[in-house]
Amino acid sequence: MQDSGRADMTRSAVLSFIGGHGPVSRADLARSLDVSPALMTQTTKELLRQGLITEMALSPSRGGRPARLLGLAVDAGTAVGVKVVVDHITAVECGIDGTVLRAATEPFDAASPAALDALVALLRTFMAGSSSRRILGMGVATPGNVDAQSVGTVESTQMGWSGVPLGARLRAEFDLPVLVDNNVNALAIAETLYGQAKGHENALVVTIGTGIGAGIIADGVVLRGHAGIAGEIGHLPTVEGGPLCQCGARGCLEAVIGQQALVGEARQRGILTSGEAIGVLGDRADSGDQRAQEVYEQAGHLLGRALAGVVNLLDPEVVIVSGEGVESWRHWMFGFEPAFRACLIPAKRGVPVTVEAWADDRWAQGAACLVLGTPFDGQGLSGEQGEWVRQRLAETTSPPPGEADKADLR
Ligand SMILES: [Zn+2]
Repeated sequence: MQDSGRADMTRSAVLSFIGGHGPVSRADLARSLDVSPALMTQTTKELLRQGLITEMALSPSRGGRPARLLGLAVDAGTAVGVKVVVDHITAVECGIDGTVLRAATEPFDAASPAALDALVALLRTFMAGSSSRRILGMGVATPGNVDAQSVGTVESTQMGWSGVPLGARLRAEFDLPVLVDNNVNALAIAETLYGQAKGHENALVVTIGTGIGAGIIADGVVLRGHAGIAGEIGHLPTVEGGPLCQCGARGCLEAVIGQQALVGEARQRGILTSGEAIGVLGDRADSGDQRAQEVYEQAGHLLGRALAGVVNLLDPEVVIVSGEGVESWRHWMFGFEPAFRACLIPAKRGVPVTVEAWADDRWAQGAACLVLGTPFDGQGLSGEQGEWVRQRLAETTSPPPGEADKADLR
């Protein structure tokens, strides 16, 4: 039993490594994971037999014999990702490599007493359109706090949800593994698997837009804290006695640089009229209106100071800025860069800040990554739901029973 436990761990480690680093040779795998070449050959043979990994191109030769690279089997299954927000949902179906195969957006009213029923009906329609040979599971990304990915009870002031059993309801309806997490955490997982945080054990993913949020990758996993609240940088106290925040406190970062606050500021300064929204402010700044640019610059300054504090605290290797607000990042940057660099401790002053262009279905893709990330979830973050995903993956890819029996006699 102990041996099979160890073999399982090696298998997870191999999947996790390929998932995080891309195609790799057996020799590099053995070296990186510190196991013997013989054990690695045996482990990869098993994974190939299960169809979880596949042999790819030869690695470029550096004088010696070129080695065959191993990658994830992209047709092993799909995952459904759902972004739920106050007034709409976006659902995507992704391949195992994170590619979005199809997407749909539908209006949704989170505040309605029948919100969960409506959500189930919308998802039922979306699931019916799948042509996948197997859906491995469903990931749901929501604003607010989620107790645990594999439980999925949601607290969200934005949605008006308190103790909503989202995960339990969807599991009961669809008989599928369902993983639920905060939307920025889901995005951070997507960045780790397929985006700019790939290959980094410590990264900070920050979103600017309606809200201001962060997903923290610490030592290779999403830092969730005691109740899934970690990363709420939108509520860093920023301006003493400042505007009232949704959380009930005054002067939180989000209350001074969230989209609504920027619009409020611009109206007060006479840059926007009462009917004009954030898009108009962005357009004015783009077309050279200095007063509009100043609104962003000031927001960038406050964000820079706040993020410097977070970087000094957490020591990420890279900071990734995303969210629907990054369209105007070039205006934020004038205030952000000087304030950010000035407040970093010397050892962190060179930390790179990269911007991830924003696509509308990005949150939903992040949600799908809750499922797609589970084969690589060495830390067990996804709990029994993740275990179920792995089981479904193995079932999909196993050879017919007769074949499997033969192989097991090795
Ligand atoms: Zn707040």
